[in-house]
Amino acid sequence: MSKIPMKVPLVEMDGDEMTRIVWQMIKEMLLEPYVDLKTEYYDLALKKRDETDDQITVEAAEANKKYGVAVKCATITPNQQRVEEYNLKEMWKSPNGTIRSILDGTVFRTPIMVKGIEPLVSSWKKPITIARHAYGDIYKSAEMKVKGRGKAELLFTGEDGTEERATIHEFEGDGILMGMHNTDRSITSFARACFEYAVDNKQDVWFATKDTVSKTYDHHFKDVFADIYENEYKAKFEAAGIEYFYTLIDDVVARIVRSEGGIMWAAKNYDGDVMSDMVASAFGSLAMMTSVLVSPDGCFEYEAAHGTVTRHYYRHLKGEETSTNPMATLFAWTGALKKRGEIDGINELVEFSSKLEDVSIKTIEDGVMTKDLVQLSNLPNKRAVNTEEFLMEIARNMK
Ligand code: NAP
Ligand code: MG
Repeated sequence: MSKIPMKVPLVEMDGDEMTRIVWQMIKEMLLEPYVDLKTEYYDLALKKRDETDDQITVEAAEANKKYGVAVKCATITPNQQRVEEYNLKEMWKSPNGTIRSILDGTVFRTPIMVKGIEPLVSSWKKPITIARHAYGDIYKSAEMKVKGRGKAELLFTGEDGTEERATIHEFEGDGILMGMHNTDRSITSFARACFEYAVDNKQDVWFATKDTVSKTYDHHFKDVFADIYENEYKAKFEAAGIEYFYTLIDDVVARIVRSEGGIMWAAKNYDGDVMSDMVASAFGSLAMMTSVLVSPDGCFEYEAAHGTVTRHYYRHLKGEETSTNPMATLFAWTGALKKRGEIDGINELVEFSSKLEDVSIKTIEDGVMTKDLVQLSNLPNKRAVNTEEFLMEIARNMK
């Protein structure tokens, strides 16, 4: 059988620990037998980042901008303990943070659903995608504790020296204060990324804020979204048969639990932070959560939502058996290959990627799965296998 050819390389960002091992297995066992893989390889392993003073991460992100599509393995974000473990020159920043700031993107997280693992919310039949705005609000704020009586004001000083003021509160006693911000540039690119992704995936978009209370700040988010929708996306949505719907955050929470899913929920930074954990746990497992970063100019970076699974890696190093779920990492690959196929007009690559996703889901639905899923599955004939056996089973089913 001849292998499926590729035209433009996929940007491959390798990573750390257990996911690095799973990465290699996926390539060898499930991709290379079928696809003439063309990748531009960047090794984002912590050791390599340290050797290159983290330039490798910047180069990988630049390549992502150049070629459009990347697939990323989970990577260690160093803390003090890692600085000692790897004898690092510096406590390098999170690669995901670096890539996100270069691509200026929005992160979309979607669960992989399989029969036998039912969402805790019984009405959910289709996946819910959370799009979290990843800039500003309380994550880039100034805070203060104040003592005694006094007046707190918001003050904006324009470049020309003009001042605008608003009273926050006249304190009678001790209290706390916070000032936060967002920018039109960031909100605009968030809105575009959401609408772009929705058109691409043919999903309705629900966006919600607390604009009834925050009549300027949250209301502005609503206005920016409405503007961009009306001027740039309305026709595309109508053509795709999808809807944009704005409502109050309280209302969306109530509606989501009663919905059957299949929606993209666009959320402000804090709402997205909290609600993505709620949605992920209600769907079952972080090991079944995919993640894609989409930039406003249409670049894509696919990855798993989980980390490098350190505990399993240490067991692997001791020669012990591991049962690490490769699904989210595999779906990062299939997502990226599918996107490459769509952009380059290689239908076979799109079909192969979808088939591999279907086969791996079917493998779990036939009862063969990693340990983490065995605990969640209600199938009668389920069987836990190790990391390699699971991938081998998918490979057999692919054949
Ligand atoms: P983690 O790697 O997501 O793992 C936490 C635990 O969740 C694991 O010990 C395991 O539980 C379970 N788990 C996660 N993924 C699994 C999978 N695919 N299959 C089976 N079980 C899975 O999070 P962490 O231990 O907090 O972080 C480890 C490293 O990853 C850190 O250095 C962190 O910086 C990095 N990290 C990277 C990213 C990224 O690159 N996107 C994201 C998050 C964290 P059991 O041990 O109970 O089996
Ligand atoms: Mg969180």
